[in-house]
Amino acid sequence: MNDCLKSYNKRFVLLAALFFYVFSSVPSLSAAYSQADHRGFQRSIVDSRSRLNPSFKKVNRKKTKHIIVHTSELGLNATLRVLSKGKRLRNGRSTNGGHAHYVIARNGHTYRILDKKYKADHAGRSMWNGVTDISKISIGIELAGYHYVSISESQYCSLGILIDILQGVYGLDDRAVLTHSQVAYGKPNWWFRKNHRGRKRCARNFIRAKAGVGPGWTYDPDVRSGRLLPDPQLSKIFYGRRQYYAETDDANVISKSNSAWSIAGEDYNSRTTIYKFPSGRVYAGDQIGNKIGWNLIPAKTVVLLNRENGISLIKSEGPIKTISDGLTAWSFAGKAYNQKTTIYFLPSGRIKSGSRISDWDDLPVKTRLIIGYRGPYKLSKERSAYQIASHKYKDRKTIYYLPSNQLLAGDKIKDFTRLPTGTLIFLPFT
Ligand SMILES: [Zn+2]
Repeated sequence: MNDCLKSYNKRFVLLAALFFYVFSSVPSLSAAYSQADHRGFQRSIVDSRSRLNPSFKKVNRKKTKHIIVHTSELGLNATLRVLSKGKRLRNGRSTNGGHAHYVIARNGHTYRILDKKYKADHAGRSMWNGVTDISKISIGIELAGYHYVSISESQYCSLGILIDILQGVYGLDDRAVLTHSQVAYGKPNWWFRKNHRGRKRCARNFIRAKAGVGPGWTYDPDVRSGRLLPDPQLSKIFYGRRQYYAETDDANVISKSNSAWSIAGEDYNSRTTIYKFPSGRVYAGDQIGNKIGWNLIPAKTVVLLNRENGISLIKSEGPIKTISDGLTAWSFAGKAYNQKTTIYFLPSGRIKSGSRISDWDDLPVKTRLIIGYRGPYKLSKERSAYQIASHKYKDRKTIYYLPSNQLLAGDKIKDFTRLPTGTLIFLPFT
């Protein structure tokens, strides 16, 4: 259970805190939640510390100056696994895990990966206000999900209480709360001639107010001092004069203003970053440079991050896709994942359209899906496959769902007269 506070209640308290702040000009910490809220939330945290990679070396953190918010760019299961056990690096080696203190699932459930007193390896090459290696002086919170999908209300809820608790423990104000995309920096590359921001995009979609966190920095101290070059898109999001929130619609689609770099950051040329061209052709990040050229990626190309299996499964031929650990509904359906025309076949035998699924983290592995379909149309004695699909009944895009839970494309069926009654037929829109 992870009941968020009743929002009216919280809003009132926040308002009271704001008055207190304005009229006393004393920064108020931990004003929004009661002790009971804190205790209730702390009891709800799922302890995942036993999953930690045994090779991870626990080192006490000496100081805590920041709370760093991330989006994991993975589904929940892969998030928990990778952050606890480690991730595969480009050179084939693996890290030792311990990549966050907390993970918050899209349903708000919160997991403890590593005791907060230890240093977690979550920020990588990072700098804030001239201080490098931010992991050494910060708590890392990972939100399961992507920087190009909105953070869920339940996640904001849990994140708000968690930040409040940590601010109390370490005596931190709201300016101490930063995103990984704010503090990460990269070495010179194809896009930048000097050290620069933009290595990471994660949590650029974090809206502070939704977690009850007040305004942060109005400028990037390392850019201002000339230590780093700014990233144009991130500067606009975090320090723009007008309130500007990262778009989530089409945020992983290449356009004039959205380059491979601004979507994938340092992973732009990784084997696990997949580019789906509008033509339907699929390339891995490590193929683009030679085969296409970074400035020649067509507009409307969809960029998918952290596809551990590379392109082999994305390419998976035919209209029936299967969700596996590295492949989520997003990998296949992109923005259409939650639409009525994306139809999911759960291992339990239930059939649900994308618009009727609310808990995306709980979509079981082996769930199959088809994208851009209408139906079902039920096969019966009075209604043959031909009557339903007309001349397309044998087409590979016409999908048959048998009472035995088998899902078959029309071109895989040999004898249509032997299809059991009760078989469901799904027809493509195009
Ligand atoms: Zn991150």
